[in-house]
Amino acid sequence: METSKTERLHLLDSLIKNVSSIVFPHHCAYCGRPLEDGYFCEDCYKKLPFIEGNTCSICGCPIGNETDTCYECKNGFYYFNKNISACRYTSEFSELVHRFKYHNGRYLAKPFAEFMADRLREEDLPADYIIPVPLHPRKEEERGYNQSELLAKYIGRILDIPMLDNVLARDIYTESQTGLKKERRKENVQGAFSVKNRTIIDSKIILIIDDIFTTGSTINECSKVLLDNGAERVYSATLATGR
Ligand SMILES: [Zn+2]
Ligand SMILES: [Zn+2]
Repeated sequence: METSKTERLHLLDSLIKNVSSIVFPHHCAYCGRPLEDGYFCEDCYKKLPFIEGNTCSICGCPIGNETDTCYECKNGFYYFNKNISACRYTSEFSELVHRFKYHNGRYLAKPFAEFMADRLREEDLPADYIIPVPLHPRKEEERGYNQSELLAKYIGRILDIPMLDNVLARDIYTESQTGLKKERRKENVQGAFSVKNRTIIDSKIILIIDDIFTTGSTINECSKVLLDNGAERVYSATLATGR
């Protein structure tokens, strides 16, 4: 049977797609343009909201040159010594983070971890161990992976710091922090975490890894539990800051 013109065009189209996926196995994570290599095309890479210039000495958000800490940190209390973030959580960037977290965008873990590792090298924060913010086992099963653990794994490899995934546990299935007000976020994570195998972290400096820094309640609660269980000091690194 003779194939119709539309079918032939369709076949040709899929053939071109297959060939181009061999020649250009990568696609820009933002615009979808085929790439020979890497994760972002040059234009989109330039648009990534990397944090530059002066940052808050506590939470790592961008601030003006005339001050050392942001307004929130001047009035807040934190168990961790310092957080650093690679990017600003702009609405455009949040779409990419959303893909990473909820739409099986695991391939983004590697480039995101590289952004964070670059920032960590600049800041030169000390760390004996890297610990990702855990998900509740039920949530991890629903999602299929823990995005913070993926980031932590790659950062650990890049910076040659061991990653521990058997120390911090999330015992309470909390509602998502997204959309919650500051006070509710704090209550929401209170008592949600516990420490297993505490001897490993005794007198050690811990670097917590999470995706987004918003109010800092999640990282703060994790830091408190780690310090209560013998850690000497806690720092944290997040992909992006919403402040
Ligand atoms: Zn692009
Ligand atoms: Zn701050």
